[in-house]
Amino acid sequence: MVQANRCRIQQRLERIAGFTVEKGRITRPTYSQAWVDAIHYLRCEMEMMGMEVRLDTFGNLVGRYNPGKSTDKAVGIGSHLDTVVNAGAYDGAAGIVAGLELVSMMHETGLQPKRPVEILATADEEGLICQKGYFGARFMTGDMSVDEALSYKNAQGKNLEILRKESGIFAGRPFGSDIGWAADYYSRFIEVHVEQGAVLEENQYDAGIVVGIAGIGRLFFDFRGEADHAGPTVMKGRKDALAAAADLITKVWETGQIYSGSAVATVGRLAHYPNIHNVIAGQAELIVDYRATEDELAQQIAGRIKEYAAALEEKYGVAVRLSHELYTPVLRFSEKLLDEYRSLKIPNTMELFSWAGHDAKAFAQVTDAAMIFMPSIGGKSHCPDEYTKVESFELVCNYLIRLFLSE
Ligand SMILES: [Zn+2]
Repeated sequence: MVQANRCRIQQRLERIAGFTVEKGRITRPTYSQAWVDAIHYLRCEMEMMGMEVRLDTFGNLVGRYNPGKSTDKAVGIGSHLDTVVNAGAYDGAAGIVAGLELVSMMHETGLQPKRPVEILATADEEGLICQKGYFGARFMTGDMSVDEALSYKNAQGKNLEILRKESGIFAGRPFGSDIGWAADYYSRFIEVHVEQGAVLEENQYDAGIVVGIAGIGRLFFDFRGEADHAGPTVMKGRKDALAAAADLITKVWETGQIYSGSAVATVGRLAHYPNIHNVIAGQAELIVDYRATEDELAQQIAGRIKEYAAALEEKYGVAVRLSHELYTPVLRFSEKLLDEYRSLKIPNTMELFSWAGHDAKAFAQVTDAAMIFMPSIGGKSHCPDEYTKVESFELVCNYLIRLFLSE
């Protein structure tokens, strides 16, 4: 029986983690020198196994393994190569390393995949350029126009045209001629990813089959009161925008607690003015982020929060306005691919939802896509403490390989 190689997995994780723009911590934005170096490294790894490697005009790297010269549609497997600032070594890289390991397992034993296999290392999943997230995957699936893609800018005000040029890796290839190339291309897309939460670890499961991605909503609230002296202004009749905002924050927290397990609700961003210790805040703005495994529940939560916010006007004498709202519905992954995962009978596995967006969300619009989670120790992610045991990779690869070798 073909087996995953733990040293190889470990080495590749370490190599990828070494590509960073900051000494002592992992930060790998798309188009940076560290990202370019990582692309070269992956290209070498893939070519050594006889894979055909290409880079699309966005910067998504694709390695094709097809020793049997099959003419079937390829199976895509992979994840993102970019990271957040001060990241861990596993978010994104885990999915690329799992893909590489599966091809290595076939390559070293001479076992042939039924269909062509393509390993994907996608670009700008983390939203440093396009804040919508999974920008590279959206480019591949055609979830935007060239003009839209070029309209986004990173924090330094640079758009794709400038960033691509600076990377020096595209050698004059014009941007966008291949936009949407993966819209009708893959037979399925498999994304192995670290959980980034602690559900698997706390319940002592070794792996997770991800049945879908939670619906994600945002509510942008504006509070207008009156700035005044914190001393002489009597409490009665004050118009304290920050006190009203704080009341709503507590309500959001309580709402999240009520639906814990099926929903979460957070206020992570609050701005208030003038932000001086002896002045009553005349103005506050906050964003509520809420997520749920059912659209109906998400609507209920949003309704509850909006209703509560409206009632704050009277209590605090301030004007409360919902300036903007967004909602992305719950995504259910392909039952067909989920059944294939289930049929592998990976031991000690649970089914769960993902509470964050991933590349698989973009691919699910154009093909059968679904994810596998590996436990994140301590539930930590997007930080240096991110850790997933190499045994988790071994387990997932040792079972997932069967999907490539047989129908
Ligand atoms: Zn990720």
